[in-house]
Amino acid sequence: MSSPNVNEEQGTAAPRLLQHIWSLIEEKKNTFCDLSDRIWATPEVNYTELKSSRAHLEILKAQGFRVTEGIAGLPTAMMGEAGAGGPVIAILGEYDALPGLSQQADVAQPIALEEGGNGHGCGHNMLGSAALLAATAVKDYLASQGLPGRVRFYGCPAEEGGAGKGFMVRAGVFDDVDIAICWHPGAFNCVKEPNSLACNEINYHFHGRASHASATPHLGRSALDAV
Ligand SMILES: [Zn+2]
Repeated sequence: MSSPNVNEEQGTAAPRLLQHIWSLIEEKKNTFCDLSDRIWATPEVNYTELKSSRAHLEILKAQGFRVTEGIAGLPTAMMGEAGAGGPVIAILGEYDALPGLSQQADVAQPIALEEGGNGHGCGHNMLGSAALLAATAVKDYLASQGLPGRVRFYGCPAEEGGAGKGFMVRAGVFDDVDIAICWHPGAFNCVKEPNSLACNEINYHFHGRASHASATPHLGRSALDAV
């Protein structure tokens, strides 16, 4: 994709471009930080993300995306598109939680809001909101520069183990996409290109045998050793 600044001196175009994109992010970030807080406060697991998907859908619409709800036959999946022509840039977001991770926000020790309740692991409440903010910034950038290109936000259910994207791929919703980008919080910024051909979830149960550690250790069997 060509940038409007390509004819300028090398070395000045990229920082200016980045500055512009960062300003588009800054401009709207409060709406999306608020969204991620709301997703944290409403943890929903695999395919039951009704409130969480609705919250993303409302912002997609408010930001002027053309929205298709329930893609791939999944009630909590969605796609929002903006722009015309050009490459199709997909930014993927998720909003499902995990069972048993209920947690108060902004504290660095385990404090469940609801004992045994759902919660978001490793910043997953931000996966959808930040992806949606990125898609919005790309949309605003394309519009501000009059550039061709379509940017899409795909709301993908059941990331934590329900293989939502697998069903979406099978339904062909990504067939005309040129690039699909997703992200995950981490300790440092980097670009990864992992390949994965399959996703199988298997549960193993290891059973040990209790025995007194000093009197009869030879009669015990540690389940942890088996793991
Ligand atoms: Zn994670």
